[in-house]
Amino acid sequence: MTEILALPAFDDNYIWLLRAGGCVAVVDPGDAVPVLGHLAKTGDRLCAILATHHHGDHVGGVAELLARFPVPTYGPAVENIPGVTHPLAGGEHIRVPGIDVEFDIIAVPGHTRGHIAYYGPSLGDDGAVFCGDTLFGAGCGRLFEGTPAQMQDSLARLAVLPAPTLVYCAHEYTQSNLRFAAAVEPGNIAVQRRCEDVARDRAARRATVPTRIKLELETNPFLRWDAPAVRAAAASRLGHVPADAVETFAAIREWKNRF
Ligand code: ZN
Ligand code: FE
Repeated sequence: MTEILALPAFDDNYIWLLRAGGCVAVVDPGDAVPVLGHLAKTGDRLCAILATHHHGDHVGGVAELLARFPVPTYGPAVENIPGVTHPLAGGEHIRVPGIDVEFDIIAVPGHTRGHIAYYGPSLGDDGAVFCGDTLFGAGCGRLFEGTPAQMQDSLARLAVLPAPTLVYCAHEYTQSNLRFAAAVEPGNIAVQRRCEDVARDRAARRATVPTRIKLELETNPFLRWDAPAVRAAAASRLGHVPADAVETFAAIREWKNRF
């Protein structure tokens, strides 16, 4: 049985650890220090590094970890991440050594041009996806290197995962994202309920992630391009009815950038 642990890093990042039988694989180690702290404290061995994209808050600790533990390192093929031994483009199936977990690699460009997600259908009871800065609790990543069409397509690939799938995002952004979600859909009861749940979690300093695909489909405006209220909100920003899901998504993303 693989255990999944969160190591908080920086202001609001989560480094995810997958742990089984004294081995750990680490996802997006932006900082080596908390990972080394975990290894020292538990006696676990590092067995692999998984990177979703090249930003420093996700890979800043890779070099230091590799200097001590030269482990297999997975990451996007088209991004420059020193140390990657297994470049991935999406569509691959990998088995991570040590923890012996299998992942389907999903290409999710948009936040960065090579961003990938790691979907482990057999993790836990419901499966899990490690999606970096693509899908957040009630939000999505900014478009630094991709187009709205790419990002909407990437989010659509995550949206079709089984509804109970746990979503391990790389940041604790849910509460501020929900303030925007409530502005987009003031009448969405599920958003209102989630605002209350998340306020309670944050007051108790509990993480709001992982979340689940089902909850995101109900409350995340960046997956709800087909919802009439979201289309109406996009129309009022655009001054015309959006032609399609991409135009709806683009209008909502643009609004969030200024929110
Ligand atoms: Zn990023
Ligand atoms: Fe990030």
